[in-house]
Amino acid sequence: MVLQFIDPEDCNCTDCQTGVAVPLRHATQSTLARLVTGELRARFDATVKIHITVTLSPPLLALMRPNGRLPYGATNLLHEAQRWDAEIGITATED
Ligand SMILES: [Zn+2]
Repeated sequence: MVLQFIDPEDCNCTDCQTGVAVPLRHATQSTLARLVTGELRARFDATVKIHITVTLSPPLLALMRPNGRLPYGATNLLHEAQRWDAEIGITATED
């Protein structure tokens, strides 16, 4: 079965058992990413908070000067994504 829906946190309906849906509690980060992009649909009325954290490597703070400003050229580095490793974490909770 092809996953199409994200159901309420503790859902255990037939779709959840056959893999057409997954309960929010068991949604993986990649599943949540598919929800954010609209590839999957949420099938419940509750508001869901999606928390996305992006961790850059090297860390941005390491580039900052003591005054909190970025050195000249750092902005260009940020735009050249291939120079950065980005680790993206996604979690979701019902509100
Ligand atoms: Zn279900």
